[in-house]
Order: sequence, then structure tokens, then C-alpha cells
Amino acid sequence: MENFTMLQFFEWYYPADGSLWNHFKAEAKRLKQIGIDSVWLPPAHKGMEGTASTGYDVYDIYDLGEFDQRGTVATKYGTKQEFLDAVKAGRDAGLQVYVDIVLNHMGGAEEKETVLARKVNPENRNEFISEPYEIEAYTKFTFPGRNGKHSEFVWDFQCFSGVDFDAKTEETAIFSIQNQYGEGWQDVLDEENGNYDYLMLSDIDCRNPFVREELKRWGKWFYETAGFNGFRLDAVKHMDPLFFNEWLDYMRGEFKQEFYTVAEYWAPGDLAALLKYIEVTEGRMSLFDAPLQANFFNASKQGEGYDLRTVFDNTLVQLRPELAVTLVENHDTQPLQSLEQTVEAWFRPLAYALILLRESGYPCVFYTDLYGASYIDSGEDGLEHEVTLEKLESIESLLELRRHAAYGLQRDYFDDPNCIGWTREGDDEHPGSGIAVLLSNTAEREKNMEVGKQFSGRFFVDKLGHVQEQVQINEEGWGNFKVSGGSVSVWVPLAE
Ligand code: CA
Repeated sequence: MENFTMLQFFEWYYPADGSLWNHFKAEAKRLKQIGIDSVWLPPAHKGMEGTASTGYDVYDIYDLGEFDQRGTVATKYGTKQEFLDAVKAGRDAGLQVYVDIVLNHMGGAEEKETVLARKVNPENRNEFISEPYEIEAYTKFTFPGRNGKHSEFVWDFQCFSGVDFDAKTEETAIFSIQNQYGEGWQDVLDEENGNYDYLMLSDIDCRNPFVREELKRWGKWFYETAGFNGFRLDAVKHMDPLFFNEWLDYMRGEFKQEFYTVAEYWAPGDLAALLKYIEVTEGRMSLFDAPLQANFFNASKQGEGYDLRTVFDNTLVQLRPELAVTLVENHDTQPLQSLEQTVEAWFRPLAYALILLRESGYPCVFYTDLYGASYIDSGEDGLEHEVTLEKLESIESLLELRRHAAYGLQRDYFDDPNCIGWTREGDDEHPGSGIAVLLSNTAEREKNMEVGKQFSGRFFVDKLGHVQEQVQINEEGWGNFKVSGGSVSVWVPLAE
């Protein structure tokens, strides 16, 4: 896994034209060549809005673009065959392929059922604000378009802990369903809103043993069908962590595969919650370093008012580097999205240097930084906004530096609030390796840093091309490196 790099191969607004799987298939070889080792693909199953669904609003986890359901055979990203071909192309190119697993909720049920439910206070879900009464809930999923193929399991209200709509009165609220498997909500770690089991749509109740059994059967089917390498788990903050312990143990035991797994526990300001989740899941999965992404966001907003020495404070990569997936952006934080927290353009090369060129963390590059994007959606003000995200000009250089140069002992120079740097002295396994990285969030700066005596007398140049001069390393193995204002420079030894 040394210097492995992941790519999130989609963004929220990727065109709903059924082209993503083919796009990935066509790109797989090139991605491997530019230094990508693993790819996180979006959910492959049919969502409730058909081709308009990103897949996070699950309708049928057995429909990978195979059945005429929700108004379409293909999903937003293509057909089942195109998905299978894409996964195979990725693996053939030497990439690890991670699939996105969404098991917290489902939507788009065909049939209503009369169920007993209690209304809850949305701010405190443990507070029931009504006695149990009959509502009509969309909880019966029969999947007529699939007609029992792959699985005959029928989901009904015994499989769900809550819904947000009573069709009888047409009232929208959060309803806790009374089924035979548990009282109230499932045990989740997060205490936001009292209990954060319920997120959206019909919330899957994993206390029901038949549900757990069905989800294992599905996992087995999915792997035997598609043959991926690992998982990205959606919305685990809203699920009982013991469920995924059981599910991952089953999958790993059944197939004798590692199934590298990274989970989305989105809590940017709450490192303690991430650590608690790691404790309860006993290290079975890595987590996205949401606190680090928040630090990047703050640093990008505050400019020279931000103390760069603190950029790794209260982050997962600082405390549990072996389980941290570091990132600059994802499909939820990108502009106009629900958790919008976009790292500003000037800081993105600095942020990528911080995740790609240091020894800790498993970095995940965001799609738009490699491909750019342009889209229109309504913002918080309700007005339509057009967003254009440029490809990050330096991303391929940074990937190449990670792959060929960022090795060996790391020396840190986090000694100035506006200018930090580090060096890697290189190693014998990677001829020509060794770097000196310098970041400034103010005017141009310079800093003396040690790269090691093996470079004495040698000249270094800024591989990103921002500073046009050479730095000579002195007898003691130190160089006086430079960086432009609001920029990053990555110095590498000139070939002898
Ligand atoms: Ca839940």
C-alpha cells in the first residue's frame, strides 16, 4: 500500500446520460499510468429517481441497470453490463476497484402498508410526541420489474425503523415505526438530534435478522457478479456499527479477501466521534478524514490569517494515520451540495501537497480536480447558480511526485504560521527520490530545510515550475528553498 492513491471517480453533478461506466472503462489504463492505484465508483444500483438518481436514494440493490424499474433499465451511470465491463477494465489495468454500499435507507416502495407509528421531535428523536397510531407508510418493496430474479426477498414494514411520510394524512414528519424487532430507534453512536438513526426515506432496520441475512446474501451475490476489491460504506453515522462489523466479517470470511473498506462517518468538527467509531468497529474499516477537510476549508477561507502550523490539529491522519483516508473535496462538499464546504481554488494545490507528499494517510483525489466540471443547480438562496470547476493544473505533477519522489525519512518545518515545509530524503528503492516542499499562505518566503548530506553540492528545482531558480544543497545537506506567495513549491534534485 506504500504511496497508494485513490480516486473518487464521480462528482454529484456528473451528467445523467448513462456514460460514466464507459468513461471509466476508457480511462482506466491512463489513470494507472498517472499514478492512481484505486478507484471509488458511485453506487451501482438503481435509485428511486431512475436515471436522475446518484444512487444514494436506493431503490433496489439487486438492480445494477438490468431491469425496467423507476422508468429506466440503465442507471444514471449506464447498464449492468457496462458496469461489469468497467470494473473488469479497472482490474485489468491494475487498479483496485471500490464499490459504494448504501444500506441505511431505501425509497420508492410500490405499496403502502398500515402500520403503527409514533411521531418524534425532529430535534430530539428520542422524544416521542404522539402515542402510537395508524399511518400509511410506503414500506412494501416488491420490485415487480425484477420479478424475483436474484432474490425473492420482499421488504415490508418489519424491515424499517422509520419513515418521513404518512400517506393517510399526507403529513411529512419523522415517524418511528413499531415493528416486532425493536422499540424505537436503533443504537447508533452519534447523539446529534438525540439519536441519528433516521436520515431519510425508509430507514432500514438491521435488528431484523432476516434483513441482516438478506444483506449478506446480497453482498455475496454482488461480489460474485462484479468482482470488485473493496468498499466505500455510505452514511455509517446513521447505522448500528455492529451491523457492518458482522457484514464485513461475513464477506471477508466467505471470500477470504481483504476487501479494503473506507466508511463515511461525516463529522468534520468531531474527531472524538471518529475515534469512538474506530474503537467500536475495532479497526475493520478506515474513515474519511472529515476534520482534515474542514481544516483545509478554513485555511482556504482565512488566507494569511490561518496558522498553517495547525493544519493537522484534531485530524484523523494525525492520530490514526493507518486508518485515515485524506481528501480535499468530495461529492457532498462540492459547491451547491448539502454539506458544501468547498476548499477554495488557490489552496487546493497546497492541500493536495499536504495529502499526497507526506508519509501518512491514504489520499483520495476528487474527480473534478482531474477532469473539471460545469453544472447548474439552486443554491441555499433558492436561485440557480452556474458553477465551473477547473481541473487542477498541478494534479498530475503532484501524483507523479507522490509516485516517484515522496519517499524516505520525513523532516518537518512547521515553524511559521504562514509558511510550513517538509522534506523527504528519498530511499534506495526509488532512484532519484527525495523532495523539499514549501507552502505559503502569505507573500513569497524562503526556508532552510535539511534534505540530507547525500545531496550535498546537488541542485534542486521546483518541479511545479512556480519558482524559476535553482537551489544548491550545502555540505551539511541543507538548502534554502523558496515559495511564491499563496503557493506551493516542490523541489526535487536535478539528475546528475
Ligand atoms: Ca439508520
